[in-house]
Order: sequence, then C-alpha cells, then structure tokens
Amino acid sequence: MGLLLISDDLRNLSLSGHVGFDSLPDQLVNKSTSQGFCFNILCVGETGIGKSTLMDTLFNTKFESEPATHNEPGVRLKARSYELQESNVRLKLTIVDTVGFGDQINKDDSYKPIVEYIDAQFEAYLQEELKIKRSLFNYHDTRIHACLYFIAPTGHSLKSLDLVTMKKLDSKVNIIPIIAKADTIAKNELHKFKSKIMSELVSNGVQIYQFPTDEETVAEINATMSVHLPFAVVGSTEEVKIGNKMAKARQYPWGVVQVENENHCDFVKLREMLIRVNMEDLREQTHTRHYELYRRCKLEEMGFKDTDPDSKPFSLQETYEAKRNEFLGELQKKEDEMRQMFVMRVKEKEAELKEAEKDLHEKFDHLKRTHQEEKKKVEDKKKELEEELNNFQKKKAAAQLLQSQAQQAGSQQTKKDKDKKNASFT
Ligand code: GDP
Repeated sequence: MGLLLISDDLRNLSLSGHVGFDSLPDQLVNKSTSQGFCFNILCVGETGIGKSTLMDTLFNTKFESEPATHNEPGVRLKARSYELQESNVRLKLTIVDTVGFGDQINKDDSYKPIVEYIDAQFEAYLQEELKIKRSLFNYHDTRIHACLYFIAPTGHSLKSLDLVTMKKLDSKVNIIPIIAKADTIAKNELHKFKSKIMSELVSNGVQIYQFPTDEETVAEINATMSVHLPFAVVGSTEEVKIGNKMAKARQYPWGVVQVENENHCDFVKLREMLIRVNMEDLREQTHTRHYELYRRCKLEEMGFKDTDPDSKPFSLQETYEAKRNEFLGELQKKEDEMRQMFVMRVKEKEAELKEAEKDLHEKFDHLKRTHQEEKKKVEDKKKELEEELNNFQKKKAAAQLLQSQAQQAGSQQTKKDKDKKNASFT
C-alpha cells in the first residue's frame, strides 16, 4: 500500500488493508461515460475554404450542410448539433459554421457576430449557474471548446481579416490555426508559409491554443506537435484505392493526395491533437480560462467583487447589501430631486399665472375706462341730438302754425273774392 504525501500540515498514515477508494478514478470514468460529453467546434474561414469537408473527414461521417453562396449580406453563425457514439462513449458534438465570412466588400465588422455568438454561449451558461435551481448536470453546454481557424493556402502571409479576427477571439476561445487545402501549396513554400504565419501571430500578439505539456502522458507528443503548427490539412471523404487498401484521398491527374498520410499533410496531427489527445484539455481550458474571464468581467460589470477597497474579503452577501443600499440611496436622491423639481415647477407656474392675472386686470381696467369714455361720448351725442330734435320739433310746430294761419287767411280772401264776383253778376 503506497504512502501518500498530501500536504505539509497533514499527517501521513499508512493503510493496513484494502479500503477501496482506489476505484475513484473508475467511478469518475463510469459517471462521465454514462453522462456523455459535449464538444463544440467553431469553424472560422471564408466560404469554400473546405470547412464542411474537413469536419466530415475528421469525424468520418457526412454532416448535413448545404454549400453557402458568396452573396451573404453579412456573417452569420449556424450551429448544428449531433449525437455520436464510439464504443460506449457518447459525444454531443456541435459544429458552428461562419456562413458568409469573407464575402463582403467591407469586412470591418466580420468578427463581431463571431464574438457575439461566443459571448452568448458564455452568458447562457452564466445565467444557468446563477439560477437558484441550477441544472448544470444535464445542461447542454454550447460554449465553444475549439476554434479551427482556416487560413487560405496563399503561400504569402496572413490577411488582415485573419489577424483582426484571431486577435478579437483569442481571449474567448482556444484557437487552432490550420492551413486549408494544403494540397494546393508546394512543400518548400509550405514550410516558409508556416513560419511566416507563426511569426506574424507572435508579432501581432495573437494567443493561439498551446498544447499542454504539464502532464507527463501527453507532454512529449504535444511538444513535438506544436512545432508543426499551423497544421496544413487536406479534407476529403472520397475513398481511393491505394495499393490494396481504400483510403481517403484527393485524386489529381498527376497523383493522389492521401488525407491520412503524414508525408502528404498534417490531417492526422490535427485529429490527434484535437480529438485524441487534447479534447478534455480544450474543454477544461474553455471552462477555467475563457469562461472564467467572461464570468469575472461580467460579475465585475454588475458590481460584484471579492475584496473591498482595503483588500479585505467581501462576500456576495455584503456585495448584495452594498449594492442594495447604493441603489436605495440613488433612488432616494432621485426622489428628492424630483420633489424639488416639482416644487420649483409649481412655483414657476404660480408666478406665471400671477403675471397673467395682473395682465388681465390691467386689460380689464383699460377696457372699462375706454368703455366709460365711449359711453359718455354716446350720451353727450344723444343729448345733443335730443336738443336738436327739440329745436326741430319747435321749429316744425311754428312752421305748421304759420302754414295754417296762411291757409286760413288764403281761404277768407277767396271767399271775399267769390262774394265780390257773385255781387257783380247780380
Ligand atoms: P466550406 O464552404 O468552407 O464549407 O467549403 P466546402 O467544404 O464546402 O468545400 C468547398 C470546395 O472545396 C469543395 O469542392 C471541396 O471538395 C473542396 N475542398 C475541400 N477540402 C479541400 C482540400 O483540402 N483541398 C482541395 N483542393 N479542395 C478541397
């Protein structure tokens, strides 16, 4: 029975018989196997660079995918999940494609939908984690574990779109750069192209995924494989007869490129690193590095912190209380401000109304005065007219009198004349 040194201040005891906790690793394996695993790959690369073909080749199957056109107005991400089984291990695989990447004239914002997608998956996980009733045990984890970045086999150098996109993604996801369609580039050119890419990544401060070398079992293979980065891959699901065996290959008039032949391309290296050696590390890195960073920033943004300004531990409860008090204080301040504002507005309105009342009074007085003046004028005029009328009546009466006297005198004269006439006739 082995003696295990666990910690300096713990006493080491030897067991005198079999206890059975040495089956713990098996228990872990059994538990994980029964649950199955989630693994999510993001393929970033321009349309037609060979993303779908490589995925089919890697997992030895035909995933459903329809060829994208080059007419997409922007970049959109399309995720498809599959349930795969090998021996008794179930793998829930999600492949995310960047549809329309590199197809726009203005590519400034091409990285944004990718960053948003990655963040959205982190956010969904964080929301689940923050729930009172969490169900992380059977949670379908959609966080991206590996980002295969497809570099065009130009033999020249990285495009600025590649550098910008990788730089924006490197703190959020494990980037594994690969040279796509490596059968289209000559061997000596490929070597130069690889070192050019690596030096460009370093000089631009792009952090790609480092194969872990801290664990003994994988240290050697990971260290030797790192030298071959970025892997130059060829994809094909077509089987070609080579010797007396069938192998995945691409056939050309001048020869055959075998996908799984390490002299032809790095496909095997990629499969080894991505699936067979480091799949668990990629999952772990996603959780402990990238998700942790997202979670920390997000919680800090929300005002949570582990220590107070004097670097003393600050519990979630205290943060909550402090935030609550801060919020209530702000609310009270806003309420006071609003009350003051209201009182001020009422005063202003009152003053305005008083002013308007004064104006009205003045206008009323003015109108009253003019009305009285007008009234007096009219009364004077009336008096004048009445006098005129009286005079007129008097004159009229005198005239009538004169007229009647004249008529009387006239008729007496006529009678006299008639009498005279009659007298002369007789
Ligand atoms: P995607 O749009 O990035 O998913 O690209 P596809 O996987 O649909 O591939 C587009 C075309 O490139 C197809 O005609 C493939 O046969 C071809 N192709 C895929 N992989 C390779 C490769 O490694 N080498 C060459 N020469 N052609 C490839």
